[in-house]
Amino acid sequence: MKNFFKGVRKHIGKLDAATLREQYRLVSDEFDFFETVFRAIKEGIVVLDENGSVVYQNPFAEEVLGKGGVERLGIALGTSSKRELTVTYPEERCLELQTMPLERKSTLLIVRDVTGERRHTEEALMAAGQSAVRDLAAGVAHEIGNPLNALSLNLQLMARENPGDELIETCKHQVKRLDGIIRDFLQALRPSRPCLVPGNVAEPLAECLKALKIRFEEKHIRVVLNIPRALPMVAMDKNQLEQVFFNLFKNALEAMGDGGEIEVAVRANDADVEVRIQDSGTGMDAEQLKHLFEPYRTSKAEGTGLGLMITARIVHEHGGTIGAESEVGKGTAFTVRLPRIERRIRALK
Ligand code: ADP
Ligand code: MG
Repeated sequence: MKNFFKGVRKHIGKLDAATLREQYRLVSDEFDFFETVFRAIKEGIVVLDENGSVVYQNPFAEEVLGKGGVERLGIALGTSSKRELTVTYPEERCLELQTMPLERKSTLLIVRDVTGERRHTEEALMAAGQSAVRDLAAGVAHEIGNPLNALSLNLQLMARENPGDELIETCKHQVKRLDGIIRDFLQALRPSRPCLVPGNVAEPLAECLKALKIRFEEKHIRVVLNIPRALPMVAMDKNQLEQVFFNLFKNALEAMGDGGEIEVAVRANDADVEVRIQDSGTGMDAEQLKHLFEPYRTSKAEGTGLGLMITARIVHEHGGTIGAESEVGKGTAFTVRLPRIERRIRALK
């Protein structure tokens, strides 16, 4: 199509009326064709201009978002992002929103209804939960943990006696890697239900940052904190939230070279407490964003691709949502939203 338009534009001055009419007919047929496709498609397509006004919206987008619904979503214009959203109006649905910058400063928004899919995944996970294979796999992974610990201890002793020995360091690195893989697999196979008690998200965040302090310093990464002193309580499992933040910080670290900045901003609104972790790492392209949170998707030689799946599951079990915004070469921001306790109580009433 692009070449067709280029060709017509180049010769437009030389075309006679009949040819022009014919070309016009072709374009208008093509337009009708796309219009029909966009009308039939069960995915919401919205184009926003640089001011955030809707330039185009197909019927499905209007059906799931309601009239004027797009404006209320607070789309970050001109960026690539993916997030999930539960809407209660016009109907209760779980929506997946993906944005992409387009030419002429406009933004493309794709809306997928993942209500059924989500239910299906949960059912599939439950079914798998009863399978013997799963228990066996978890059992084996668990058993590997013990000898691995012994290996790691012995290696540490050896390293102390032979400082700087490259072979020992390599072994230590590989053992640590195995340990990480097993930990991820166990978490993925045997998720434990969160034990929710009222708490402040700043606590698990602080624990996590403390544990990773050396890793940040080694890579000369500046950590900027923007955390209010007083925050509304959320119903949380502190250990599991630590795991959430740990996975997000670890990914940020792995996406960054030497230097750069990670900003942690926490804020509350009427409904949620929101934690945003922004890095200045490699960022992700649209294809990577599309498959984010899916198991076994990794761009790393030593990755398991399970971290974000586990992270999203924990957040969902807290009644929260997680999303990401990213730009290749600039960095990535993950946003975790957890419902405030008062809202949960109100919802229960
Ligand atoms: P793993 O870290 O083992 O690869 P994850 O589930 O934690 O698995 O992450 C999946 C993929 O998502 C990563 O391999 C990476 O490509 C991408 N990703 C996650 N977080 C970031 C980030 N902060 N910056 C860039 N890419 C990221
Ligand atoms: Mg990871």
